[in-house]
Amino acid sequence: MKILQGKVALITGASRGIGRGIALRFAQEGANIAFTYASSEEKAKALENELSALGIKAKGYKSDAANFDQAMQLVDDVVKEFGTLDVLVNNAGITRDTLLMRMTEQQWDEVINTNLKSVFNLTKAAQKPMLKQRNGSIINMSSVVGVKGNAGQSNYSASKAGIIGFTKSIALELGSRNIRSNAIAPGFIETEMTEVLDEKVVQGWRDSIPLKRGGTTEDVANACLFLASDLSSYITGQTIHVCGGMLT
Ligand code: NAP
Repeated sequence: MKILQGKVALITGASRGIGRGIALRFAQEGANIAFTYASSEEKAKALENELSALGIKAKGYKSDAANFDQAMQLVDDVVKEFGTLDVLVNNAGITRDTLLMRMTEQQWDEVINTNLKSVFNLTKAAQKPMLKQRNGSIINMSSVVGVKGNAGQSNYSASKAGIIGFTKSIALELGSRNIRSNAIAPGFIETEMTEVLDEKVVQGWRDSIPLKRGGTTEDVANACLFLASDLSSYITGQTIHVCGGMLT
């Protein structure tokens, strides 16, 4: 028996990177997948085909997670198409790294809106069908940087720390309705984005991690799989660090 058989999951920002890894892992375990992207039309279509080939129902939606109305419309559309919503993964995120001295208001707002306001938007929309069925798992993508802070990432770090506070509050609000809310805090995850970085710098990061390697999208997806499934049915309000011991 596949552990997400018959469940419907909505994953934001799944056209590439970690979100894509989560979509594939959930589909392998039998979940039907609705996912979003911002602009990567072709990658989204390719993922839709790849997911469908696994024998589940899959559909990609172009939807800006930072936009409240689009988020409400998205959840309505997903429930109409898939019949229900069991798992929400708030994964969409961006960076606009620079020191506070140089940070513009726009760089601050873009990161806060895409990374943090999006979590409010989608969770508010998703709570409706979840409350109705008295069941649901919400998984929010934070970061070790939201726990520790990072020079040059005050906007990103604030958004990821905000996600942890939001996650705990929603766990307290919705626990009595059997809706769980947890966060994942990935460390250094090697994606297409990190392939362009200087190999020497990346090797230095790997060496400083207790498990002596960067994480993979599968490492993060497996933690999400656990939180999405009934294996974690007594776990809510928590942050799971997927960082190879980086913060230990
Ligand atoms: P990524 O490769 O840059 O992918 C970001 C995804 O989010 C893409 O699918 C992108 O869609 C989508 N997206 C961006 N803005 C959006 C918006 N406004 N509405 C909807 N979708 C949007 O990022 P990643 O490395 O996989 O990271 C995924 C999450 O994990 C992020 O929240 C990130 O902060 C977090 N995280 C990553 C790491 C790491 O080391 N990679 C570490 C800790 C935490 P398009 O393709 O259409 O642009």
